[in-house]
Amino acid sequence: MTSLDDIPVTQLKGVGSALADTLAKLGIHSVQDLLFHLPHRYEDRTRVVPMGSLRIGDVAVAEGEVMKTDLVMGRRRSLQVTLRDDSGFLVMRFFHFNAAQKNQLAEGARVRCFGEVRPGRAGYEFYHPEYQINPSPMPAAEEATLTPVYPLTEGIQQPRVRSLCQQALGYLERFPIKDWLPPELLADFQLPGISDAVKLVHSPPAGSPVHSLLEGRHPAQQRLVMEELLAHQLSLLRVRQQIQARQALPLLPTGDLPEQFLEQLPFSLTGAQKHVVQDIRQDLSQPIPMLRLVQGDVGSGKTVVAALAAIQALGSGAQVALMAPTEILAEQHYRNFAGWLEPLGVRLAWISGKVKGKARQEALAAVAEGDAQVAIGTHALFQDEVKFQRLALVIVDEQHRFGVHQRLALREKGVGGSLAPHQLIMTATPIPRTLAMSAYADLDTSVIDELPPGRKPIETIVLPDSRRDDIVERVRNACQDGRQAYWVCTLIEESEALQCQAAEVTAQELSERLADLKVGLVHGRLKAQQKADVMERFKNGELDLLVATTVIEVGVDVPNASLIIIENPERLGLAQLHQLRGRVGRGHQASFCVLMYHPPLSNNGKARLQALRDSQDGFFIAEKDLEIRGPGEVLGTRQTGLMQFRLAEFERDKGWIEPVKEMAPALMKQPRVVDALIRRWLGANIRYGEV
Ligand code: ADP
Ligand code: MG
Repeated sequence: MTSLDDIPVTQLKGVGSALADTLAKLGIHSVQDLLFHLPHRYEDRTRVVPMGSLRIGDVAVAEGEVMKTDLVMGRRRSLQVTLRDDSGFLVMRFFHFNAAQKNQLAEGARVRCFGEVRPGRAGYEFYHPEYQINPSPMPAAEEATLTPVYPLTEGIQQPRVRSLCQQALGYLERFPIKDWLPPELLADFQLPGISDAVKLVHSPPAGSPVHSLLEGRHPAQQRLVMEELLAHQLSLLRVRQQIQARQALPLLPTGDLPEQFLEQLPFSLTGAQKHVVQDIRQDLSQPIPMLRLVQGDVGSGKTVVAALAAIQALGSGAQVALMAPTEILAEQHYRNFAGWLEPLGVRLAWISGKVKGKARQEALAAVAEGDAQVAIGTHALFQDEVKFQRLALVIVDEQHRFGVHQRLALREKGVGGSLAPHQLIMTATPIPRTLAMSAYADLDTSVIDELPPGRKPIETIVLPDSRRDDIVERVRNACQDGRQAYWVCTLIEESEALQCQAAEVTAQELSERLADLKVGLVHGRLKAQQKADVMERFKNGELDLLVATTVIEVGVDVPNASLIIIENPERLGLAQLHQLRGRVGRGHQASFCVLMYHPPLSNNGKARLQALRDSQDGFFIAEKDLEIRGPGEVLGTRQTGLMQFRLAEFERDKGWIEPVKEMAPALMKQPRVVDALIRRWLGANIRYGEV
């Protein structure tokens, strides 16, 4: 029997090849795709809102009497129609209008209009609203319905999509959508079948509960949300299944490299580090590829764990790639690893975008011929020209800074033939559990839930920038006591050039005011070598104060630094601030973080800085961040599309994550169902599902 998936949209009335091309841009090819092109919100045209209670951004129906109609000259000529009702006033403004319109909208006329509230010269305004003169009575509440609003693309408007969806609904009678979920399951959760849910969401019948629809909590919407979350979960599990269907080189511990390494460390591992090392050792010894995520708060000591994983791989004569998201961090890892491993006879290669010419050729050759056992670098390691002889372990540090695609791309560099490399993913952004369950369903997780001993809590102080002079003195005192400090300049991230410029100005100013201190500067526009030199001088104590942009956000480790000043913290996300703050508190002295904000702070801004002041628990902070900013920001995967849902909203729907995780394994046994659900919800966009 034909299914809706096999019926191309061109079968619909009025859809020619041009419109079909436009629809394709929305991922719509079949009638079924159209039915799963779901409204992302509704307009409530079911009731008239009193003008006095309208707020900026509201999309609403208002109704009143024309008080006056003026032709306003200004920069652009416009027709300004002032309406009033019992509660207040509202202006309708038209930039395009004709004489007839102007005459109809005469004083005393009764008008109902629909638009979005904007602030204007004359109070709240609707620009070019839809309107009706002498309107027909509003439908009674039980007959009123919400109007769906769909995601659009260039070349297609709301009414067109609406009518196409209505047409598509007409097919449901003859070709119901296949329901892949077991009826018992739907009954358990009291959810409707798929065809009913789709129908209701596109075309809520009169009398449907308006509030629950507007909030996305109607059972029909929840049914779809659940299926969508399930489809995402299944797609990640399938990635995992496909990877693990390949073989990996079992990396068995041989020789005494690990013991030698541990002996030369100036500290012993924490219990948490030992656990995680044990998990990794267990995975690596298997002939199936490891897929493990290590989460550990800032400063929990992930680098040593990475080094031990690398050492374990080397025992079997294999190669390891270690990738970091920034030059500064990659360089720091390279130096650390060189210090730890070269004395043990391990050969390293350093590959970043900035390594050029002969040095690059040599590094590439060493990796290709297997002379270099550990290659360390930035995402330059992904490039095609980097060929490994026998890559068996890929370690990705601070993964939240990379896209999911990049993480999955390195895996392609595996040992030739059918062998896949083991993967170890490290992240310092503590990922709220619910988010981790859905975004990293393809990975096993280990947590370093303990900081090395002797760490003192970081005291966080929130001050307005009017106290700048005091803060500068504080820096002077700390440095005169032999401690070191960071001064972080933040500017809107989009403009790296401006950010660097601001840091330059600040560094200049601070080195004049703090003439007795040695001040260094590091930002993204310096050459790699310059950056490395400055970092090295700061690390070995030649510099007292390091002025920096947010390039030092991840990974940088200078234990003697115990004071960090962050300018304009209100511009940054909580997780990012937590990362920055984590640059201090790595040694034995008491550490301080000064958040120097620019007043006035919004309420939200205040709450955020307070959360940071009151807590040093990365997980708590990440939960807050998730609440405030949503999962795309927290994971840094916005561009990858991983967490872009059609209907699901993380905060509202997180209650589904647990049940969805429980149902997934049973469904995985039915590949046909998995394929169908992934295709239905992720369509052609599911690039990361390809192996
Ligand atoms: P992360 O990458 O998790 O933020 P790092 O690996 O940079 O943390 O480690 C932070 C600091 O703690 C480093 O100076 C490191 O040498 C030190 N460190 C790591 N593990 C221990 C330990 N078990 N005991 C004492 N210090 C440790
Ligand atoms: Mg680190």
